[in-house]
Amino acid sequence: MATQSLTFLIATRNAHKVGEIQSILAGPYRFLTLNEFPGAPKVVEDANTFVGNATKKAVELAHWLSSGKSGATSLPDYVLADDSGLEVDALGGAPGVHSARFAALDNPAHQENSPDGENNAKLMRLLKDVPLEKRTARFRCVIALTPLAGNQESSASPVCYADEAELQTEVFEGACEGHLALAPSGRGGFGYDPLFVPQGYNVSFAELGEDLKNRLSHRAQALAKLRSSLNKRRQS
Ligand code: IMP
Repeated sequence: MATQSLTFLIATRNAHKVGEIQSILAGPYRFLTLNEFPGAPKVVEDANTFVGNATKKAVELAHWLSSGKSGATSLPDYVLADDSGLEVDALGGAPGVHSARFAALDNPAHQENSPDGENNAKLMRLLKDVPLEKRTARFRCVIALTPLAGNQESSASPVCYADEAELQTEVFEGACEGHLALAPSGRGGFGYDPLFVPQGYNVSFAELGEDLKNRLSHRAQALAKLRSSLNKRRQS
């Protein structure tokens, strides 16, 4: 398969994630984002694993695109969905899949993602009595890749159709170990970056700069596996 003209729809409106994915996956690819598809359905991320949520996002969006409801005249080759988050050992792995709306969990009426500042403040509050050596944590990322080719509405039933898209979905995982600092520092990145210090460094992701973060991060590791899978297909 030639990768020369592959187009990916990155299933997010998070500009930081889009920027990281584009620069890490740099190659002969074209990228679209949900900003180009304002009518795209909002996928409810209610699975209790990163794999479940990333797969759900990629499959539902591939289904929607293939149904023709987007009105797009040319479709991407793949939907690429990232689900990621922070696991803190002292909190039993929380916030995990709830990373984006960690602060909002305290107010069940509030369904939207929380501002990064509120998530970070909650984390600091919960960890206030936890010493540095017990503040171990990791970022995890799962990238799900669903091809559109063959995902046509002509399938026998919507159930078969959905199963087919899910069966064709590949997942790529990455993790980045580190610890949480006692206070936030740095202005780069997004989310929990000002608090997360990757293993082997003594400054936060927000201070490390994009280039270094994009070499070390959970997302970089998942995308490296995806890139090598795409390269293998190109060579076969
Ligand atoms: P998602 O958009 O549902 O995958 O939510 C991911 C959430 O995890 C983000 O809103 C951030 O709070 C956090 N997160 C994921 N990756 C990163 C990262 O690279 N840096 C900082 N926070 C991250």
